[in-house]
Amino acid sequence: MFKIGVDLGGTKTESILLSAEGKEMFRTRIPTRKDVGYDAIVADTTELIRNTAAQANASLSDCTIGIGIPGIVGPDGLIMNANTTCLIGNPFQAELVKQLNHPVGMENDANCFTMAECTQGAARGFDLVFGVILGTGCGGGLAIGGKVRRGMHGIAGEWGHVSVDPAGDMCYSGIIGCVESRISGSGVESRFQKQTGTPLKFPEILAKADANDEVCKKHVDFFFEEFGRCMALVINTIDPDAIVIGGGLSKIDLLYSEGVKRIQKYAFTKNLRTPVLKNQLGDSAGVFGAAWIGL
Ligand SMILES: [Zn+2]
Repeated sequence: MFKIGVDLGGTKTESILLSAEGKEMFRTRIPTRKDVGYDAIVADTTELIRNTAAQANASLSDCTIGIGIPGIVGPDGLIMNANTTCLIGNPFQAELVKQLNHPVGMENDANCFTMAECTQGAARGFDLVFGVILGTGCGGGLAIGGKVRRGMHGIAGEWGHVSVDPAGDMCYSGIIGCVESRISGSGVESRFQKQTGTPLKFPEILAKADANDEVCKKHVDFFFEEFGRCMALVINTIDPDAIVIGGGLSKIDLLYSEGVKRIQKYAFTKNLRTPVLKNQLGDSAGVFGAAWIGL
């Protein structure tokens, strides 16, 4: 069986074709059309899947199909919390099954990331794995024994939207002072601008802190402190065998040294041994993970 994976992103939709052994055979991407509505997204996705199968001269019955989405498949099969908002409230998975006449696996993109890193990336060989996507936002996914665990409401791993700051800003999730507002790139940048009046990107704040700018040093220190506190929340709750970090901020090397020191400060153990791993698949994790959750 070939494996088709589709990563439906906010700006681009990528697809991949893997051999039965998991070797990449073909990959392509199309722009995700904005403001064209649900039917157009369904049409684009089905066409992309058919084209991908055609690259191997395969019929769909020779393939498994999996899709990662920037949202959650709710317990009733309807899409929730998607930033491609036309999907919300629609039975996207069932519609694709109908159009393709083929089963379709569908998971949240953070779950796909976690699956990919468990299966062929940094978290290979670990049983209970928490995946973190730390970028503009802050998402998470949970895999146990190489399988995604969605939870009763489909929100397992959504620790980025736990309220940790009652005095914080209202999040799009409808929750005040989310973890996301404390440790995501956009959270750091908006806090910096609010307090200093200067718009700076997080990498610039890091660079200036490195050059001994006192204000930037203070903000970077605050970020690591919050990172430690929020990750300790995960460790104390599920005590995973490994944590793997993806997203734009995963490139910050200090996360794996200073960041881990701060986790140690807040975790309820004096001897923190949890491996905090940098992802190995980079931007490709989403599309590989989609292939691995295919049906
Ligand atoms: Zn939130």
